[in-house]
Amino acid sequence: MQNPFNVSPLQQLHDKLFEEKVVEVFIKRDDLIHEHVQGNKWRKLKYNLYEARLNKQNTLLTFGGPYSNHIYATAAAAKLFHFKAIGIIRGEESQIKSDTLQFAASQGMELYYMDREMYRQKDSPENIESLRVQIGDFYYIPEGGTNVNALEGVEEIIEELNMPFDYVCTACGTAGTLAGLVAGLRGAKNAIGFSSLKGEDTLTQKVNELVKAYTGVEFSNFSIYFDYHFGGYAKTKPELIEFILDFKQKFNIQLEPVYTGKMFYGLFDLIQKDYFPKGSRMVALHTGGLQGLSGFKQLQIESN
Ligand SMILES: *Cc1c(COP(=O)(O)O)cnc(C)c1O
Repeated sequence: MQNPFNVSPLQQLHDKLFEEKVVEVFIKRDDLIHEHVQGNKWRKLKYNLYEARLNKQNTLLTFGGPYSNHIYATAAAAKLFHFKAIGIIRGEESQIKSDTLQFAASQGMELYYMDREMYRQKDSPENIESLRVQIGDFYYIPEGGTNVNALEGVEEIIEELNMPFDYVCTACGTAGTLAGLVAGLRGAKNAIGFSSLKGEDTLTQKVNELVKAYTGVEFSNFSIYFDYHFGGYAKTKPELIEFILDFKQKFNIQLEPVYTGKMFYGLFDLIQKDYFPKGSRMVALHTGGLQGLSGFKQLQIESN
């Protein structure tokens, strides 16, 4: 089969702020890898699909919410690579399916619903086992696609950056992507994560565990910022929406408010506050996720 994926371009962003602060900012456009199977969700899926093939598993099973970028990407990837896919969706089945779930179903993903209480224990061994009894055998991919196999795909981003840089930045949900970047850096330079979730820091430990499981060692050359969640997961504020609209106008690049908008807002804020030494070169990851825009009315016009 012909490789359906593009190498994601690396583009420099030009802005007065960067000139004034004497920094350079590049964006790695993982949103352009493929129409449907893209962003960090493809990076994390890639070696999970290899692993599934290797283990002769033809069925993928994973979890996600009704707007999940991971459900969307898994459904499309399963179709592309001829796997059967099962999506276990958080919450009750609603009368009107989200665009994400409609798309997933159109790709042939079988959807089941799990109430919120059970969903909290979705990856307990008992629950996975009971799913195996009900559904048959499958290759299990955790919510968000984050596991040790995910790091191998994310680390390829670092290999693709064939130019000198000082910092690589990503949005963080489960922190699987940040862990992959840290693994890829192997202790050199710095990785920065911007958490989209509110709450105490459980992500640092998560990164350490994943990186250790994958590389055998821990690295401390990363930091995570928790000040840019705008109220929590999938919450927005007018200034975030404003920022995303401005960004689109200035750079002709679409962001979304759950992840990439918050990361760039945070990055611009840190630059403004002189966090980075003069002469620093940053690479920020566009992790995709634009399929989810249809859930945000204020930005819908921009979503095509
Ligand atoms: C899922 C997602 C993230 C978060 O990635 P993690 O590996 O879970 O931290 C960031 N950006 C986008 C667009 C996503 O869909």
